[in-house]
Amino acid sequence: MALKTGKDYLKSIEELDLEAHVLGQKTGDLHEHGLVAPSQEAVAFTFDGAHDSETGDLFKAVSPLCDDEVNRFTHLHQSSDDLVKKVMMQRYCGTKTACCFQRCVGLDAANAIFSTTFECDAKHGTDYHQRFKDYWRWVQLEDLVVDGAMTDPKGDRSKRPADQADPDLFLRVKERRPDGVVISGAKLHQTGMLNSHEILVMPTLTMRPGEEAWAICAAVPTNHPGVRYIYGRQTSDTRKLEDSMLDVGNPVFGGQEVMTVFEDVFVPHERVFLDGEVDYSGIMVERFASYHRQSYGGCKVGVGDALIGATALIAQMNGVAGASHIRDKIVEMIHLNETIYSCGISCSTLGERMPAGNYQVNLLLANVCKLNVTRFPYELARLATDVAGGLLGTMPSAADLDDPVAGPYIKKYLAAAEGFAVTDRMKVLRLIENLVAGAGAVGYLIESMHGAGPPTAQRIMISRQAGLKDKVAQVKRLLGID
Ligand code: SF4
Ligand code: FE
Repeated sequence: MALKTGKDYLKSIEELDLEAHVLGQKTGDLHEHGLVAPSQEAVAFTFDGAHDSETGDLFKAVSPLCDDEVNRFTHLHQSSDDLVKKVMMQRYCGTKTACCFQRCVGLDAANAIFSTTFECDAKHGTDYHQRFKDYWRWVQLEDLVVDGAMTDPKGDRSKRPADQADPDLFLRVKERRPDGVVISGAKLHQTGMLNSHEILVMPTLTMRPGEEAWAICAAVPTNHPGVRYIYGRQTSDTRKLEDSMLDVGNPVFGGQEVMTVFEDVFVPHERVFLDGEVDYSGIMVERFASYHRQSYGGCKVGVGDALIGATALIAQMNGVAGASHIRDKIVEMIHLNETIYSCGISCSTLGERMPAGNYQVNLLLANVCKLNVTRFPYELARLATDVAGGLLGTMPSAADLDDPVAGPYIKKYLAAAEGFAVTDRMKVLRLIENLVAGAGAVGYLIESMHGAGPPTAQRIMISRQAGLKDKVAQVKRLLGID
């Protein structure tokens, strides 16, 4: 088997011939579309890492499932060291791309499904685990990108799936056939969906008895008939369609979120990994969410590195790098960023072996990690905005820079510290703008809040995992209270 390069990957995605609604138009040839291409480049980076002599060890792992070397983005964690390496790899990717590189959701879904199906089979006598092993071995050997699709639209949040005005507001099994199931519904906010070969749908929350139709986990090829895509907008996204890349901020990479609709999609039995076992729906959700909360302890830290680097550089360009209050703000950014990383590493180090054989993160610390991620990137963004100065929001366009009348004025009046070109200063400001208020802020800020669940979801998990009763008992013992 051969690990794909970024180029192999791009070709394989092009061959899927996916179509999507992008800015009001049904669009094929997505690799040529200015809004999509940067997001594909970011995924391609996760393939090239396995071929780079400096990062190969981090990006590769030996999988017992196929008895071969695989890209770590498809690996079932065999130790807490694997969990640590995953976070380190994600930080590396975030630092280099300064955006969401989209490939972690499938990895997190696979590890959650692997352990959940094992336990479900033991209780219910189902054969999901073997099906999933066969499926995932193929994913590893083909070095595929899989979109882990959890988030249903959910309609009226006060109502259960069956009580919604439209039962499709939670993705469901609409029909059962002798050879498989027909699913109907949608998954929202799907990171990197159009850059994926496969989709793993999972239940969106803990289902109860009577809600069996919504307790479905299954694999669907992205180019399956009946699956439709509507591309998500990002702030300032049409800058990517302009001639100059300067105003985009991140000239090479970008993220992608897609509304994905399943219009009566048939899934054969061998691709179904949970169907009606409501008692395992919540376990699957919890495990996937915790792996993804760990993921943010790597990827968001990497993007934070890029923001800190850009902030330190703009301070130099502005001639204020030596000021003590600027140095202090940059140290504060580093402290916050490394605090997130510490959580990502610690929930990995304290990972545990599951009955299925793969390793799971420490649930409490993974949730602490993500709860910090709902706050610290916002503070990093505030500090970067502070240090960068007001020009961040008022700078003329790249098109004016090229204008024979406006251009010379821009070059004259935006000159700052000696030794730095005005266009370079503009590039750095645009990258900061991209991350704190532009297209990159979708991944760095909004997704930091809501991706892998909003802060309340982490608070619930923290309260469940914290062992508060034990702490009270300890204090009682200490003080001799009955
Ligand atoms: Fe990976 Fe982070 Fe993007 Fe999620 S937000 S897919 S963890 S890079
Ligand atoms: Fe995410």
